[in-house]
Amino acid sequence: MMDATKFYINGKWVTPDGSQRLEVINPSDEKGFSTITLGTQADTDNAVSAAKKALPAWAASTKEQRIELLERLFETYKARAEEMAQTISQEMGAPIDLARSAQVGAGAAHLKNTIRALKSFNFEHPLGDHAPDNIILHEPVGVCALITPWNWPMNQVMLKVAPALAAGCTIVLKPSEISPLSAMLLTEMIDSAGFPEGVFNLVNGDGAGVGSQLSKHPDIDLVSFTGSTRAGKAITLAAADTMKRVGLELGGKGANIIFADADEKAVTRGVRHCFANSGQSCNAPTRMLVEKSVYKQAVETAAMIASKTDVGQAGTEGRHIGPVVSEQQFVKVQALIKQGIEEGATLVAGGEGRPEGFDKGYFVKPTVFSDVAPGMTIWSEEIFGPVLVITPFETEEEAIELANDTLYGLTNYIQTSDKDRARRLARQVRSGMVEVNGKSGSAGFPFGGMKQSGNGSREGGVWGLEEFLEVKSVTDW
Ligand code: NAD
Repeated sequence: MMDATKFYINGKWVTPDGSQRLEVINPSDEKGFSTITLGTQADTDNAVSAAKKALPAWAASTKEQRIELLERLFETYKARAEEMAQTISQEMGAPIDLARSAQVGAGAAHLKNTIRALKSFNFEHPLGDHAPDNIILHEPVGVCALITPWNWPMNQVMLKVAPALAAGCTIVLKPSEISPLSAMLLTEMIDSAGFPEGVFNLVNGDGAGVGSQLSKHPDIDLVSFTGSTRAGKAITLAAADTMKRVGLELGGKGANIIFADADEKAVTRGVRHCFANSGQSCNAPTRMLVEKSVYKQAVETAAMIASKTDVGQAGTEGRHIGPVVSEQQFVKVQALIKQGIEEGATLVAGGEGRPEGFDKGYFVKPTVFSDVAPGMTIWSEEIFGPVLVITPFETEEEAIELANDTLYGLTNYIQTSDKDRARRLARQVRSGMVEVNGKSGSAGFPFGGMKQSGNGSREGGVWGLEEFLEVKSVTDW
């Protein structure tokens, strides 16, 4: 791989102005295996200036030119998939099989879906039959800062990079400082695909540095951010002075409502889904709500599945979960497990400390709490580890009330064989997405949240493309 201390600005790998370095840690063994540079204001300014210079020509490029370059990038991405999987697995601890399939696969799928959306998108059309000389032009927003987290690195980076390029915007990407290497590998691919100089730029840095410099920058027209609700609020405040557009994809605390008439695999599926990626997914179904008549059985099944969930090194093949990403996350998850016990929830699987056989690495025991009541910390806080909480309900109304008893509103899940009830509930839960009976969204399914799970953002497919476009209306065309 390239020298990870460099940045990519104006079509070249350059030596940064910044000299402060940060080690990239492998969460399986807690050892540093690469080093990046944290950018300075000068690095941020250089990247923004390159993107600004490249904007007029790129914004004027034809749809066909952009499709050709994105298709070339897709071929390169597929050809280097194994390298990408190894990189993601090392930097953030996804088990290699998960990295190869879902982590790398998500990036490929988003790129493909964006190309599909671009092909059919009409950038210029009349207002309507009643006003054929009023024209609607969809124009690129401009210079975009893309700020991404570590938990699904290529999923989140590609959900922004692909539509921004497709829309004709130019980019400064600041990936998570915890998982920067996959974004650097993608940058090599973008470089080899032949995008014009300055269209795509990468600067590494932390949130307080490059992240907030980009959010405040007068020459940035849009910040697209995925990460914590805390950082989303800080970015919104920082961006207010320059009135730039801000799109936020934030945290979640999804409910998985399981009725007595749900299919027999509903509980098992819910537990596995919660633990996938070591519980580090914003849309994880972390609060399992179970109808009282099947509650006891559900708790037993969940405890059994947790005890059978293997934990293992990220580099080892097979079906296990890996570590959580960092010491900070490990400490946070452990503290929340402790708090759950202290606040009176019933621990039915897992608990504090590393799983047996591990004395190193940020490994967490797959943990299940039952009898979790609203008001408990583990009921309301996003844990971001393999920790499931289970709560009983008696009526449909109570299930809806419990599901909505959260500051978040990203994804809720409904398990029932009663189609009418599923539709009724889907309308009443307050979340950007609802998944019914284990069916996940198809290509182009818009991803985003309500309440404190997001603002001004739906990613993927046509909605993802529109995020990077302005609407201009012109008369007498
Ligand atoms: P984080 O908010 O700490 O960091 C995310 C990114 O923001 C990083 O690149 C970081 O450097 C940057 N950042 C941090 N503070 C900043 C600031 N003040 N100004 C500008 N940039 C700043 O989050 P994380 O720990 O990397 O990721 C985990 C969080 O992301 C979880 O809360 C999770 O739910 C959320 N998430 C949401 C989605 C979604 O689409 N809704 C997807 C994945 C993750």
